[in-house]
Amino acid sequence: MSHYRPETICVQGGYTPGSGEPRQIPIVQSTTFKYATSEEMGKLFDLEASGYFYSRLQNPTCDAVAAKIAALEGGTAAMLTSSGQAANFFALFNIASCGDHIVSSSSIYGGTFNLISVTMAKMGIEATFVPPDCTEAELEQAFRPNTKAVFGETIANPALTVLDIEKFARAAHGHGVPLIVDNTFATPVGCRPFDWGADIVTHSTTKYMDGHGVAVGGAVVDSGKFDWMAHAEKFPGLCTPDESYHGITYAEKFGQAGAFITKCTAQLMRDFGCTQSPQSAFYLNLGLESLHVRMARHCENGQAVAEFLASHPAVEAVHYCGLPGDPYHALAEKYLPRGSCGVVSFELKGGRPAAEAFMGRLRLAAIETHVADARTCCLNPATSTHRQMSDEQLSAAGIPAGLVRMSCGLESAEDLIDDIRQALEAV
Ligand SMILES: *Cc1c(COP(=O)(O)O)cnc(C)c1O
Repeated sequence: MSHYRPETICVQGGYTPGSGEPRQIPIVQSTTFKYATSEEMGKLFDLEASGYFYSRLQNPTCDAVAAKIAALEGGTAAMLTSSGQAANFFALFNIASCGDHIVSSSSIYGGTFNLISVTMAKMGIEATFVPPDCTEAELEQAFRPNTKAVFGETIANPALTVLDIEKFARAAHGHGVPLIVDNTFATPVGCRPFDWGADIVTHSTTKYMDGHGVAVGGAVVDSGKFDWMAHAEKFPGLCTPDESYHGITYAEKFGQAGAFITKCTAQLMRDFGCTQSPQSAFYLNLGLESLHVRMARHCENGQAVAEFLASHPAVEAVHYCGLPGDPYHALAEKYLPRGSCGVVSFELKGGRPAAEAFMGRLRLAAIETHVADARTCCLNPATSTHRQMSDEQLSAAGIPAGLVRMSCGLESAEDLIDDIRQALEAV
């Protein structure tokens, strides 16, 4: 499937039924799988044969959808997780453990920032955050001998910065570690980070991949390009025998193409159990079938709304990499030639009261913490997610009190703009 274009993979990737089999991916709603002999099942437990025995580890519906996502990203293997948070945790914890260190872009999703800076710190994994726009020299200085991975987001949520993937990949590879990229906002329709040197990709499938606000989920994808054995001393988990699996060495037994995801499934899914349900995977697949059609429209609507806002006198500033004046426009032209996403953020001249008045007058855009689904929604971080912060703290964090984040859905751009125009009149 992976030689087809993204549009074809979106529709038909991951599952090819045989004669007389269901055309749509079947929902295998079963916790367990039957075997004729214990010996047969024992081979699965020893990772000697592939197959299904318990849905916490693997399930045919989830595997088919993961295979579609792997093909879309141009990777060799993928797994679904219960959420985007679980995907990022698994991707990092699969190679970093107590006493290790991570380099991360500072412009990332708040939940991921918390995961890395608070929760993983409690597990003994330290992190150094670097601005996405740092120079190569500044990036170099963030590395330590115990650094095990570099992390960033293609288009950061909510700052909408664009990651210079090649710059981050060069630095990571110079230090013998992989680059992990959260590709949630761009989706593989907009950007394939593996084409630019990333080694592992993660997703919150909750966002555009699902696209309808139906099911929380995540995915981890391996490019199969990182040579773990060439840096065996850094990655003992992949390059030395796993005593919990009869002394298997993942990088030897499953090779570069399979080691990362096999270890992640066999150890982390086995022990943490953050699995996606087959029902959720089925919904996710319905979303993926139209991802290429929807992303084009999300980008079109985002661009139209951003251009309208940029021309309006009540608007102080618009952040959208599709606008020629945006600081990330050049990176967007390189990495996101087909468009970025439907999320636009902007500042109103009247600050917090103006943002509140504006959002209260909107008829189509609902106030939600969610982004990236078919229905337009918006959020004023100062009065919701970040309401504990003072105006001074907000502007220091790069989130002015009057900032509104709008996720443009799939409605008519004219209707969205008419709605925004009438609401701005209240400001
Ligand atoms: C939402 C989001 C996450 C977290 O995903 P959940 O599915 O909500 O757990 C991670 N990264 C990015 C970029 C996101 O937008």
